[in-house]
Amino acid sequence: MWKISFIMQKKSEKIIELKRIKDNMLRKLYLAFIAFAIPFLWIMNFYHHFLPSFENTDHLFPDMTLPDYIALIATALMAVLVYSYTQLYKKAKTKYDSLRHDIMDNIGAVICNCHEQCNCREEYIKDMDEKGIDLIIR
Ligand SMILES: [Zn+2]
Repeated sequence: MWKISFIMQKKSEKIIELKRIKDNMLRKLYLAFIAFAIPFLWIMNFYHHFLPSFENTDHLFPDMTLPDYIALIATALMAVLVYSYTQLYKKAKTKYDSLRHDIMDNIGAVICNCHEQCNCREEYIKDMDEKGIDLIIR
């Protein structure tokens, strides 16, 4: 990337950073989803604990145990977390894609400081591709 123009260098640094943020958010989203799925599966497995009883007047849910309550709270909390991470991931992805498209729109113009025929453009696209940033397909 040594021959790439200053503007392109700056944009490249920025898109690498945005990709890192986006990927990190996706990782958090996966983890939150797993943390959601475990107590959720518990509830599905013991769903009969969560059925109200109208015969017992003291407790509406006489079969619910402490782990059931914990699973219920954990599921609710993790659902909120999954939702927030989804929103944050969407935001990060939008930022990333908008810069990616900006680079793609400008990559047709001069991107380097060479004054002769060169393959900087090609090398640049390849280099970014190796970093997991696709500048070929929108
Ligand atoms: Zn060049």
